[in-house]
Amino acid sequence: MRLPIHAITPETDYAEIVGWVHEVRDLGGLTFFLVRDRTGIVQVTMPKKKVPPAVLEAAHGVSRESVVRVKGPVKAIAKAPGGREIVPDEFEIVSIAESPLPLDVVGKVPAELDTRFDARFLDVRRPRIRAIFFIRSAVIQAATGFLYSRGFVNITTPKVVAAATEGGTELFPLAYFEKEAFLNQSPQLYKQMLMAAGFEKVFEIGPIFRAEEHNTVRHLNEATSLDVEVSFADHNDVMEILEDLIVAVYEHVADLCQDRLADLGVDLKIPERPFPRITYEEAIGIANRALGGNLSFGDDIGTAAEKAIGEAMGEHYFIVDWPTEIKPYYAMPYPDRPEIAKAFDLMHPRMELSSGAQRVHRHDLLVERIRAKGLSPESFEFYLKAFRYGMPPHAGWGLGIERLLMTMLDLGNIREAVLFPRDRHRITP
Ligand code: ATP
Ligand code: MG
Repeated sequence: MRLPIHAITPETDYAEIVGWVHEVRDLGGLTFFLVRDRTGIVQVTMPKKKVPPAVLEAAHGVSRESVVRVKGPVKAIAKAPGGREIVPDEFEIVSIAESPLPLDVVGKVPAELDTRFDARFLDVRRPRIRAIFFIRSAVIQAATGFLYSRGFVNITTPKVVAAATEGGTELFPLAYFEKEAFLNQSPQLYKQMLMAAGFEKVFEIGPIFRAEEHNTVRHLNEATSLDVEVSFADHNDVMEILEDLIVAVYEHVADLCQDRLADLGVDLKIPERPFPRITYEEAIGIANRALGGNLSFGDDIGTAAEKAIGEAMGEHYFIVDWPTEIKPYYAMPYPDRPEIAKAFDLMHPRMELSSGAQRVHRHDLLVERIRAKGLSPESFEFYLKAFRYGMPPHAGWGLGIERLLMTMLDLGNIREAVLFPRDRHRITP
């Protein structure tokens, strides 16, 4: 029976392992193999005079990254990884790897991102890279567990849609029989319609598609969004949920992924609650003082300003009370100051992590807001309909999973947080 490598303990006296040949060192009378599976690395030692000739023959010429099956006694040896070695009495090449490899899995030669993504399956064999995806899995598990524990319902909404969520240009058009269709840029309209359906608390973790033309280190054309929507709640309520969720995710990863964090050299600090909150006006004030700039009310906060504000605020802070005109039509204006919306962004010094708001739930106001954005209410009829038959007040947010991972693990490029990134130039593998 195959034993995962990490299950070989000082008490193990005999083992059968199956894994990839990580390294081969032939010293003439003695050959060493390092064999790797997802749990670890073990040394396989073959003194030519001591192992059966059939084993020597089977192992002859095996290339790096081939899959091999090795069976034999386990011995303690101080110099080997994990302090043990296997001296095989059986050896089989299960699947041979071609040489040369398109990528050095042992990682001594640094590879360009493109080379790595072209052979991503090999790239991810590297423990440091694989660690990112084990942690990604733990992040999603923690977020999902947190939301279930708070009574949320996990939903799945369509990715092929007829109308743009925000009427923007960041859409991929699609050939859909005789109709014009798009890949959805966000589940926004659908999660709101499910508030009209009486679900009260929903979440979705799914792909969002954005036809962003610019190549940046924090934009993907296909990203993963964690979306949340809550009825009978305002922006403050959902900011609290977001804050609790981020902390729960960090705690889970810090508890359960110590080895993976060590592979990445990350010393994870749990964010402190409550996250600081500043208003949009305070934020542009900070940026103006730091950069000698002249941002005024209604201007977008660009990358340089974002960075300056981040330096003053530290990790994880909210910018609240945004100008209504630069937030989407579905963000609820303050009744007494309609030029400001009950909208927020969760920020990290390196980028925006999440956007959210209390939503407009009144049909007449929503129609007015859609018009004010220069959009036509007719093309949103399927959505507006849900606001005419009893729509509860509600609020929610969307959080980019890759950005969360990127900031958590200090990755230089968002593409590192996706197995098979989609950007302007890449649709394979
Ligand atoms: P940015 O201004 O940084 O481009 P955005 O304001 O356009 O982001 P939203 O529409 O508010 O993004 O989407 C909610 C969240 O989804 C963002 O805060 C981010 O975490 C994530 N997100 C949005 N677009 C992308 C993208 N192209 N690549 C990766 N993540 C994204
Ligand atoms: Mg945003």
